Amino acid sequence: MHVPAERVRDRPDGRDQADRRERRGHGGPFLEPREQNQQRHDDDPAADSEERTEEAGDEADENEHGRIVRAVSALDRLAEAPDRAGIVLDVDGTLAPIVPRPEQAAVPEETRQEVARLADRYGLVACVSGRTGQDAKRLVGVDGVRYVGSHGLELEPSAARWSEEIHRFAAGVDWPVEDKGLTVSFHYREAEDEDAALEYLKEVAERARAAGLAPRFGRKVLEIRPPVEAHKGTAVRQLLQEAGLRRALYAGDDTTDVDAFRGLDGLEIAVRVAVSSDEAPEELVSAADVVVSSPAELLRLLRRL
Ligand SMILES: [Mg+2]
Repeated sequence: MHVPAERVRDRPDGRDQADRRERRGHGGPFLEPREQNQQRHDDDPAADSEERTEEAGDEADENEHGRIVRAVSALDRLAEAPDRAGIVLDVDGTLAPIVPRPEQAAVPEETRQEVARLADRYGLVACVSGRTGQDAKRLVGVDGVRYVGSHGLELEPSAARWSEEIHRFAAGVDWPVEDKGLTVSFHYREAEDEDAALEYLKEVAERARAAGLAPRFGRKVLEIRPPVEAHKGTAVRQLLQEAGLRRALYAGDDTTDVDAFRGLDGLEIAVRVAVSSDEAPEELVSAADVVVSSPAELLRLLRRL
């Protein structure tokens, strides 16, 4: 059985290879067949130094192999009894490729069709997004899917009490704001000077914290959230509980998705899929059971379900 996962794209600064060696050392999650490793060594000027740790590498390969076998088996078991399983998906960077501005995002038609097929087949299909649930629904546009917005805050009744405070805070920030109702976001993907933008937004985050709010950085974005215990993890748990399901797959690409991965802890079958990229947070990739390199590759994985 072929595992539809490829290694993460090389980073131009070579960090990728260093990171990967480090991860492989403790049995990292990359589903990379052995022959691909070999190919990589042939092309890799750093391979000589790796050969000195050949034995450790073999052990890591064994760990990797074990991990692949476990992941494939878990995917098969989900697919064998779909009415007993939930498929929960992030939207931006997971179903919809990342674009310079969030309003340009789109879910490809073939992905939409696949989500519709899953919605017919599985006990639960849900999208948990940083957008509002309404916006996520507009973007994905598939009926029969449960949409939960604001990283799960929409399922937490106490979040709404902070809305006014958050909007007042945002009005005092000299940066374009994306209003998501229960949260606000400051994007800096298109900033002319990204370092300066990040420096400014770090100050904003400090001010937000001092004001009793909960700032959080994601992929080229600072989000200001209410200080309530609600995140993608609490949302995933609630959705699965309500549906009476103890088997699930979750796929996501960003820091907030790590919470969702943890939300699967303790289930009978759990598959945590990281959609990796140059910007993928290390903690997401290292917490994943399966790593795919793009939304297109995730689509190939979903088609197996
Ligand atoms: Mg995302």
